[in-house]
Amino acid sequence: MDPSNYLKIKDKIPSNVNILAVSKGFKSQEIKTIQNIGQNDFGESKFQEAYEKQLILKDLKIINWHFIGRIQSNKIRKIVQNFKYIHSVDSFEKLQKISNISYEENKNPLIMLQVKLNDDPTKGGFIPELLIAKWDEIQELQNITLTGLMTINPKGLGSKENSELFKKCRILADSFQLPDCSMGMSGDWKEAIDAGSTWLRLGSLIFGERS
Ligand SMILES: *Cc1c(COP(=O)(O)O)cnc(C)c1O
Repeated sequence: MDPSNYLKIKDKIPSNVNILAVSKGFKSQEIKTIQNIGQNDFGESKFQEAYEKQLILKDLKIINWHFIGRIQSNKIRKIVQNFKYIHSVDSFEKLQKISNISYEENKNPLIMLQVKLNDDPTKGGFIPELLIAKWDEIQELQNITLTGLMTINPKGLGSKENSELFKKCRILADSFQLPDCSMGMSGDWKEAIDAGSTWLRLGSLIFGERS
């Protein structure tokens, strides 16, 4: 891994757009290297892998950990205990469970709800109609702070299609007055910035290819 990649990419990103360094597949030492040059937000998608790194890095209290992977119900307590942000809440049932457990644990995670903006059988998420239908119930939930929406575009789309999906996410978030859109990865971050992303989730662009 070449740490200068991080500085180069950071230079190209407007300062009002946050970078989430996606460290899945990379070691705690590599996280430390990037942290050392100014990056404090790190994203992981598998609980066990993340937790091992969190233990090694536990003295680096400045790190904000973000969970971005598919949430298994039996891992929710551990995720709530160990992550400040959860980007990938893809159903109302899981959101309710997160809320209940956060209450018991005296936590208040920052939450982004994953939305599904086109037909992609490989991805979970709220369809917009469901989000609208559940909105009042969602707002009743305690011990969660809902800050935005998150979306993952299907692989292989062109730049125009990526832009359109990102814009849909931004419009939907705005309609709920949610500030955050977690969208854009190493292949489509430029389109995501133009559409109003507030969190780019960048893995390979920062750390190199995952083995
Ligand atoms: C792995 C991953 C990323 C980062 O992917 P890159 O293409 O390496 O930037 C972003 N978001 C999620 C949900 C991921 O699982």
